[in-house]
Amino acid sequence: MTVAAAKTSTEAKIMALSGTKQSECSCDNCKRLCHTPCIGTPEDIEKLINAGYGDRLAPSLWCVGMLNGLTRTPIKMIMPIREESGWCTFRLPDGLCELHEKGLKPLEGKLASCRPKPKGWTLQRDFTWLIAKEWLPYQELFNQKWI
Ligand code: SF4
Ligand code: SF4
Repeated sequence: MTVAAAKTSTEAKIMALSGTKQSECSCDNCKRLCHTPCIGTPEDIEKLINAGYGDRLAPSLWCVGMLNGLTRTPIKMIMPIREESGWCTFRLPDGLCELHEKGLKPLEGKLASCRPKPKGWTLQRDFTWLIAKEWLPYQELFNQKWI
């Protein structure tokens, strides 16, 4: 069974837990966020690999959780690469995301917004943390195969 098939409701679960909805706007403020590639769940990344984008993804160490005290070690995950230009590989010259129309944008990019934090927000319920946590069951696999 594929990761995507096994966890079809992960996106809905994270949106419900974090109290966050997808935003559809595209002003310059958000376009500037794409210096740092957004992170996705394992099923987001599996969909990108299945769609032929594997050569634009790379194993990475996500250290944000260490900086804010959520983890003691980096979380290993696969995410879009940052090109030498300093932008995410999927950012188009007009600043939009190549993956948006295809429905393949990683979940952090779908949920990123300038809206105030939802009511009841805590670090543990932040959508970026909830996405990163989805990689925890796969850490040993990285030790064996990639990093
Ligand atoms: S995948 Fe798309 S939304 Fe996410 S950082 Fe890259 S260009 Fe931006
Ligand atoms: S969420 Fe805010 S910053 Fe992002 S595109 Fe919409 S208005 Fe602009």
